[in-house]
Amino acid sequence: MPVFQSAMYETWGEKSYDDTTYIRLNNTPNAKALSEKLAALENADAALVTASGMAAITTTLLTVLSNGDHLLAQDCLYGGTHDFVTRDLGQFGITYDFINGDDPKDWEKKVRPNTRAIYVETISNPLMQVPDLEAIVEFARRRRLISIIDNTFASPINYRPIEHGFDLSVHSATKYLNGHSDIVAGAVIGSADLIDKVTHRLNHLGGSLDPHAAFLLHRGVKTLALRVKQHNENALQVARYLEKHRRLERVNYPGLETHPNHSRAKRLFDGYGGMMSFELKGGVEDAEQFMRRVKLPIVAPSLGSVETLITRPARTSHSGLLAEDRRKLGISDRLIRFSVGIESATDIIADLEQALSEGKGSHTTVGLKEADARIR
Ligand code: PLP
Repeated sequence: MPVFQSAMYETWGEKSYDDTTYIRLNNTPNAKALSEKLAALENADAALVTASGMAAITTTLLTVLSNGDHLLAQDCLYGGTHDFVTRDLGQFGITYDFINGDDPKDWEKKVRPNTRAIYVETISNPLMQVPDLEAIVEFARRRRLISIIDNTFASPINYRPIEHGFDLSVHSATKYLNGHSDIVAGAVIGSADLIDKVTHRLNHLGGSLDPHAAFLLHRGVKTLALRVKQHNENALQVARYLEKHRRLERVNYPGLETHPNHSRAKRLFDGYGGMMSFELKGGVEDAEQFMRRVKLPIVAPSLGSVETLITRPARTSHSGLLAEDRRKLGISDRLIRFSVGIESATDIIADLEQALSEGKGSHTTVGLKEADARIR
């Protein structure tokens, strides 16, 4: 698909304003081709690309919710979404309650006559919890709520929400869908009827995707399946290695048998993804020192790209939350989030090994064979 870098197209006898081909209306050739591909990837009727993941999320929420409505949202969410819910929705007359994604009794307690939607993440950021997705779909249907899921961490390769009964799936396409850390983009995927409504709102809010970014995203999507396969394999090896390391206190990865939601993830997902988080024994300074000592991962706040990335959510993605709220959710200041890339798993593990080795400042790289032995 070539890039059609044009803001508008000749118009002849279009029946409505929405039929006009204009860059902000997200109906340029690049936006249309990409939307069709994204819908196909999640086995949905329709999709819409947006200027960022946050544009996808905020536009979706402001489409399904209006003044006087109430939202149920999972308690542990991406920081930007959490801030939008807590700081901005109120200004539109929309109220919310946070729910434990694993506890249907909690949802029943908090649902109200004016609740319109329920919002969760397939794998939560940064604790990698997998909510009770099947029960959420059933609950939403029974209570006539629109179910929305942020499927960024899983990607359509590992989980396709619409197949499982969710109404809308949203993505930060900046992450796995694009995979190369060079654009910001988002997507909303679902039924034609709902996507029409979100499109209408997006046309007014203006968060549309530029054709060049759409072109790059379209190209990134071509290798999505291959990349995610490698992310899945690498992350499982890295998580198994870390779990056994004596300097580690806790590893959060749904692919580990010790993860509290492992059996659910095994049943529902085609792979466990490339994202994990962990805590080293010790305090924040130990975590920081470790992050200074790794050589292969890039210390950066994003995720889902071909390179391995490392960050401390309390300082980056979740810094907008009050320290007290982070503590209640279980996001400690020393928690490290790790986005495992598609490099050789042996190299990643060898680098982690040298960074975890004792002796301040020593950068002894273990032999690859030794690292391999530790994975097994
Ligand atoms: N959803 C998740 C799970 C994220 O991690 C992020 C960003 O990190 C977003 C949404 C927001 O996406 P964007 O930065 O593309 O606006």
